[in-house]
Amino acid sequence: MIEDSFLHWGLRRKLVDQVKSKGILDQRILDAMLKIPRHAFMDSSFLKFAYQDQAFPIASGQTISQPYTVAFQTELIKLEIHQKVLEVGTGSGYQAAILAELGARVYTVERIRKLYQEAQVIHRELGYQVKFFLGDGNMGLPSYAPFDRILITAATPSIPEALKQQLIIGGILVAPVGQGDNQIMTKCVRTGTDTFDITTHGNFIFVPMKTGLE
Ligand code: SAH
Repeated sequence: MIEDSFLHWGLRRKLVDQVKSKGILDQRILDAMLKIPRHAFMDSSFLKFAYQDQAFPIASGQTISQPYTVAFQTELIKLEIHQKVLEVGTGSGYQAAILAELGARVYTVERIRKLYQEAQVIHRELGYQVKFFLGDGNMGLPSYAPFDRILITAATPSIPEALKQQLIIGGILVAPVGQGDNQIMTKCVRTGTDTFDITTHGNFIFVPMKTGLE
């Protein structure tokens, strides 16, 4: 059972105010953040960190993204209800829950088995209908393509070609592009079969996207 009390709601309200003051205006995203118990996606001993606007370590040397970053990436993909969205890098499953809460059909892929398993347990408890996959997200999910939206939540040196090809025409992909500890948030709109419109949206820090399974 995931405990979600008035204490948690109060902490979440403060977090949402902070995220809003940093420039997130989409009320649907703020409402989703207010509703989702972020502490459920972290070890229970870290409750006091769950509602700070910071990234935090989870299992297997990975991180749950900073709430502001989750909101920023979600805003950039301009998600509409019922759209099919692929998330690369399930991690804790928190970002996937935000996408589900916005009414999307969510497919999420993770390369680390432990995270892939744990995220599903939390989602089952919270009642989301996200589809989880264990695999190398560099390849996307060819048998479920095309996607209206693709969200990459690990640092990639460049946008993988396979993912660009799994986007519908008119679809949007967002990814932190770059190596080391500086990534540039990049938005890629597929404007035609072979044409993409690329824009950049500031600097962020993500754990690296890797290849193969673990
Ligand atoms: N979206 C996550 C953030 C996770 S951090 C959340 O809401 O918590 C990035 C995640 O991407 C890590 O869990 C990492 O294991 C995963 N990852 C890295 N390379 C990957 C790849 N090639 N395919 C799938 N997942 C990958």
